[in-house]
Formats: sequence, structure tokens, C-alpha cells
Amino acid sequence: MGQHHPGECSCPECRTRARLAAPTLYGFIGRRAGEPETAQQVFAWCPWCANWHRHGDRTNQPGDVLHRSPHCATGTPGPYEETGYLIAVTNIPLSEVWGQMRRSSDAQRLAIGDGRVTPAIERLRAQLLPILRPQHHGGRT
Ligand SMILES: [Zn+2]
Ligand SMILES: [Zn+2]
Repeated sequence: MGQHHPGECSCPECRTRARLAAPTLYGFIGRRAGEPETAQQVFAWCPWCANWHRHGDRTNQPGDVLHRSPHCATGTPGPYEETGYLIAVTNIPLSEVWGQMRRSSDAQRLAIGDGRVTPAIERLRAQLLPILRPQHHGGRT
């Protein structure tokens, strides 16, 4: 492996290779309660560290696909480190999904970084975003 390597090199070719291999997360436009309208960004649910990651800016629209580096605060590189992830921005407002997801604690994120995955962490990771429920994917209810 030379110096050209996705995740370590930012030349156009390495960025393209990273994008091709990157997994896709869903993004939701919104802002945290109490923040000004200018704070609007894209929030993506990360199933590895079971937390929301804030990306993009208020110019982002539903249908945009962002390629971003992970914001997992676990202290060690996670599975998205090499390729980053793509964020497919949906038209579902953040306010509709934020409260439905239980987030990992600081201690749980450090445990994830250390590879100490507990049953509680497994349950956090197994949460389905509302957009991933069967009715959105051709399933019959
Ligand atoms: Zn390169
Ligand atoms: Zn994460």
C-alpha cells in the first residue's frame, strides 16, 4: 500500500474510491431545541456508536447526498474511519425522529471504542430509525 489510501489521502482519486465503498446513513434536517434557525444542519443516526452526528449546513436539502468523515466520539477509529459515510438527506424533519432514538452515554461510547460491547449497547445499536421500518421498504403490515 502506497501513500494513496482512502481515509488517509485526500486526492480526488482516493476520495472517489472512499465514496464508492462508503456505507449510507440517513440524514434529517433540523436543529436542537433552543438553537437559532441558522444552526440548522443535517443529523445522521450512527448505528455503530448509537448517536446522532451533526454534519452539513443550512444549505442542505432533501435529496442531497453528503460524503463525510465520522464523528464517533469513541476514542478509537471505528468502521467508518477509512471510507467515511454517505448521508442521504431525507425529507423527514429531525424533530420527528430525534426523540425516538435512545442515544449511547459517554461511558458507553468509550466502551464501544474499547471493544467492550454490552447487551445494553447491542440494544441501542439494534434500534431502527423510523425510515428503516418495513413499511418504507415494500414490506406489508
Ligand atoms: Zn490519493
Ligand atoms: Zn458514530
